Amino acid sequence: MQMRELDTGGGSDGHAIPVEVAPHEGPTVPREGPTQPVRIPFMRPVIIAANWKMNTTPADAGQLAATIAARTEEPGVTRVICPPYVCLAAVKDALAGKNVFVGAQNVHHEQGGAYTGEISAAMLSGLATWVIIGHSERRRDQLESDELIGKKLARALSAGLRPILCVGELLDEREAGRAVEVVSAQLRGALAGKEVEALLAGGFVIAYEPVWAIGTGRTASGADAAAMAEAIRSCLAADLGWNSAAEQVPVLYGGSVTSANIGEFLSEHSIDGGLVGGASLKPDEMAGMVARAAVTAMARAAAEGKGE
Ligand code: PEP
Repeated sequence: MQMRELDTGGGSDGHAIPVEVAPHEGPTVPREGPTQPVRIPFMRPVIIAANWKMNTTPADAGQLAATIAARTEEPGVTRVICPPYVCLAAVKDALAGKNVFVGAQNVHHEQGGAYTGEISAAMLSGLATWVIIGHSERRRDQLESDELIGKKLARALSAGLRPILCVGELLDEREAGRAVEVVSAQLRGALAGKEVEALLAGGFVIAYEPVWAIGTGRTASGADAAAMAEAIRSCLAADLGWNSAAEQVPVLYGGSVTSANIGEFLSEHSIDGGLVGGASLKPDEMAGMVARAAVTAMARAAAEGKGE
């Protein structure tokens, strides 16, 4: 893998990060090639989160999770598996002592009560430590609004569940040049009034998932995904007043990520990993994606160690 350093013009307390240059595997977007060292204020974690959606059963989920855990033992990568609710116990048992976190795919915003078929944060206690919130499939099918998603986020934080907030635009919104506007509105809607300190302390993560790329085999280009990750941090910094704290938030890319294309996203210093659906059910794919993520994690750690 070729290495180069990119310049983000980051803060004076920044670290230069060697960035791996992967061949471009998706649709191309012309942009200027940066020539100077990247400066990231500090090291963000590299995360690969598996969203199993409505797949697996309690009978087979544990074995799949154990296989994935064994095939993805790479240094420096935070691994998370989010199975269906009914498989949480089996997956948790299978992953005991394996340094892979378990996440839920949703949580109810209320503490408890007359909500037939719903799952509260308290019910997840002891089963999951992460939770996906605001996935586009739930925005589409359960009509989850940004306001409701914000309430779920608050509930997750108060229950000690590490939230992955999903944002992303529809195809017609991207084609109309409104992608950043749409994603920024989702962020403002879900995060308005929330304490940045509480979010950071709770390990808040954002997943940028263009809706048109989810489960379709289409992906954003690495450059477009990186531009959105930067727009997301700009929105946090400026619109929400987080200032430099915005740089601490990991931003993942999601949307038809595979072992063959993940390098395009991880080569971008603003992207800190992937939220993976279909490919996360395949141990070979997970092994390839986590191995590639470990390259980025090692490059970041090396830059941090050198104090660059
Ligand atoms: C997802 O479920 O968040 C997702 C990105 O799915 P897929 O990787 O299948 O597109």
